[in-house]
Amino acid sequence: MSAHTIVLASGNRGKQAELEPLLAPLGFSLTTQAELGIDPAPEDGLTFVENALAKARHVAQISGRAALADDSGLIVDSLDGAPGVHSARYAGPAATDADNNALLLRALTGQTDRRARFLCVLVLLRSARDPAPLIATGSWEGEILEAPRGSHGFGYDPLFFDPVLGRSAAELDREAKAAVSHRGQAVRMLLDALGRWHGP
Ligand code: IMP
Repeated sequence: MSAHTIVLASGNRGKQAELEPLLAPLGFSLTTQAELGIDPAPEDGLTFVENALAKARHVAQISGRAALADDSGLIVDSLDGAPGVHSARYAGPAATDADNNALLLRALTGQTDRRARFLCVLVLLRSARDPAPLIATGSWEGEILEAPRGSHGFGYDPLFFDPVLGRSAAELDREAKAAVSHRGQAVRMLLDALGRWHGP
């Protein structure tokens, strides 16, 4: 591992596939917590920021390296913000994307207000005790469809409709999604902050 390796504090392959090409301009090599045999941190925070910080700190502590965490999820207005920080396990601790999407459609049966947004918080810690983490955020406004559309992406992408583009997130290829998505916005904010960053 090089001296400039950042450890990605995520086991979510969908996120990894989106983050890795976006972070290539860093000039650092990325490795994942799974590759280092690090178990995921418990995610019991009330906010995306708390969870992202906890995930990054956990990985920085165990690896002794700089760590990057992505905590993200879907916020649906008419469901009082659910699934929110519980997006990954909305339908239960071992829920698949299909289970979560099915539950979301059931929860919105008969609901005409289908406004929603994806939120992403990225936290980069130079070390476990870094007192000044870099924190970047992004949000993507949309609506929840009545039925899935498209085959790209992961998670709730097939049910998330961007009214400006007239497509679901799963109908966008990786580049098109990154141009507008919550994660794409957060990465651009992070790269901007990294221009002023010294380390790891
Ligand atoms: P986390 O690993 O706790 O941050 O959970 C993130 C969850 O939010 C994922 O498992 C997905 O269900 C959902 N999610 C986050 N970002 C996206 C996205 O870009 N598309 C679809 N679902 C997403």
